[in-house]
Amino acid sequence: ASGYTLIRDPHHNKGLAFTEKERDAHYLCGLLPPVVISQELQVKKMINAIRQYQVPLQKYIAMMDLQGRNEKLFYKVLIEHVEELLPVVYTPTVGEACQKYGSIFTNPQGLFISLKEKGKILEVLRNWPEKNIQVIVVTDGERILGLGDLGCHGMGIPVGKLSLYSALGGVRPSACLPVTIDVGTNNEKLLEDEFYIGLRQKRATGQEYAELLQEFMTAVKQNYGEKVLVQFEDFANHNAFDLLAKYGATHLVFNDDIQGTASVVLAGLMSSLKLVGGSLADHTFLFLGAGEAGTGIAELIALEISKQTNAPVEETRKKVWLVDSKGLIVSSRLESLQHFKKPWAHEHEPVNTLVDAVNAIKPTVLIGTSGVGRTFTKEVVEAMATNNERPIILALSNPTSQSECTAEEAYTWTQGRAIYCSGSPFPPVEYEGKVYTPGQSNNAYIFPGFGLGLIMSGTIRVHDDMLLAASEALASQVSGEDYDKGLIYPPFTNIRKISAHIAAKVAAKSYELGLATRLPEPKDLFQYAESCMYSPTYRSFR
Ligand code: NAP
Ligand code: MN
Repeated sequence: ASGYTLIRDPHHNKGLAFTEKERDAHYLCGLLPPVVISQELQVKKMINAIRQYQVPLQKYIAMMDLQGRNEKLFYKVLIEHVEELLPVVYTPTVGEACQKYGSIFTNPQGLFISLKEKGKILEVLRNWPEKNIQVIVVTDGERILGLGDLGCHGMGIPVGKLSLYSALGGVRPSACLPVTIDVGTNNEKLLEDEFYIGLRQKRATGQEYAELLQEFMTAVKQNYGEKVLVQFEDFANHNAFDLLAKYGATHLVFNDDIQGTASVVLAGLMSSLKLVGGSLADHTFLFLGAGEAGTGIAELIALEISKQTNAPVEETRKKVWLVDSKGLIVSSRLESLQHFKKPWAHEHEPVNTLVDAVNAIKPTVLIGTSGVGRTFTKEVVEAMATNNERPIILALSNPTSQSECTAEEAYTWTQGRAIYCSGSPFPPVEYEGKVYTPGQSNNAYIFPGFGLGLIMSGTIRVHDDMLLAASEALASQVSGEDYDKGLIYPPFTNIRKISAHIAAKVAAKSYELGLATRLPEPKDLFQYAESCMYSPTYRSFR
């Protein structure tokens, strides 16, 4: 291959870090300026450049450009500045990027499978240059973050999630495949947008939709085998639960919005108990939002309490209440409820508003998963503060604009007593001379390590007990120092180590359940996890 091709191949390009010898051996002389610099200096140069941009979207574009030019450098910069860059390549900036995807779109970074590809999806998969795929993140763009239907512009999400699989979980980038399934969009603005990149039609539904998904799932298994992990991402809830149930029986599937969220939030709750005392069963949980995130978390809480107390899950669910757009979910509404809400229709008189629900149920934990911002009003938060010495308030809706309340509001309205976490990050808050550091209940804590655990053990099905194992592993990584700061999640700086711990526990559970096919089981799973992780350090070319 020519040197010219080499420096244009993002998987191998090292830019100015090609040594003299490599330049001689690979026909690079003259194609690069004379100076040879280290990867460390390249990282420094890149992060400096990114810090020059004031606008988050420009930082995003610069990172995507780097990913398309020099993959190893992209990952090294991301790993070494993870706290700073997570909000750039992921929520909230990735949300804005998806909203403007048509305008900023340059190089396709994943596979687009639209209705046009019906009947030939297997061929389409074979157009992708990498054959050895371990993780696919797939969206149909119908519920991107809390931003709604962004159609084909949802591609930013699988791309961003998979970059975290590699950076935080150490899955090889070449083993990751981002996919957007385009069945149209119901977003009128996009349909009229001259820069829209997707099919210009209303969403296909029913049988037409189901057939395309079926063809995709079949092709995936045929092409990549039984051990490829398919992560469903940002599907609307009227499809998400059904797809998970349907393909959970035949494929290795994971829905991050339902299961990943549940696992990360349960971990946060487990560690908040260290601050507020009691066991999970001593608490009462109220959700605003009864969709994928809300009912997913609710179910994992009920499952964990059931394991801890030996009570049937039908009983432990009664510790958990949910409010949707029509008010508190109660038994009189049972008939008209979507199936995933039915288990939560407890005996109670109807309650219409959140504040009335807080006063009626008296939750110790309030969780926002509605996708609607500013819904934890002063009245709601004050009611939580009246009923609890240390109210636990999780404002999980993304991106930042949709957060149920800000960190500042939570601390101010509770006189600094709240244990607060958000989905998208907030900076520390000073209240009456004291600094409060809000935590981020971010799925990025769980899914990369969870996926690594499945892959390294050759797991063929996901089991709820693996989600519980991941929660415990994450909660165990919170240090005394973190608790002293009121944090219920560990800092992201150690995320690769945390991911390796999660991977080890998930793999251990998989072996225990007989779902792992990589035999014999490695003796030290943590060490094995670390040894499997992708490193972004340059290779030397002979
Ligand atoms: P979803 O399945 O569409 O569910 C949204 C739920 O919120 C529905 O039950 C809906 O009620 C309810 N809702 C909407 N508007 C409401 C209102 N004004 N008052 C009360 N309830 C209302 O969405 P999802 O997947 O669960 O995601 C919801 C949000 O959580 C998104 O913003 C997402 O970004 C965020 N999220 C955060 C994390 C995290 O931080 N780790 C993880 C996952 C998701 P109806 O059913 O009555 O329509
Ligand atoms: Mn998601």
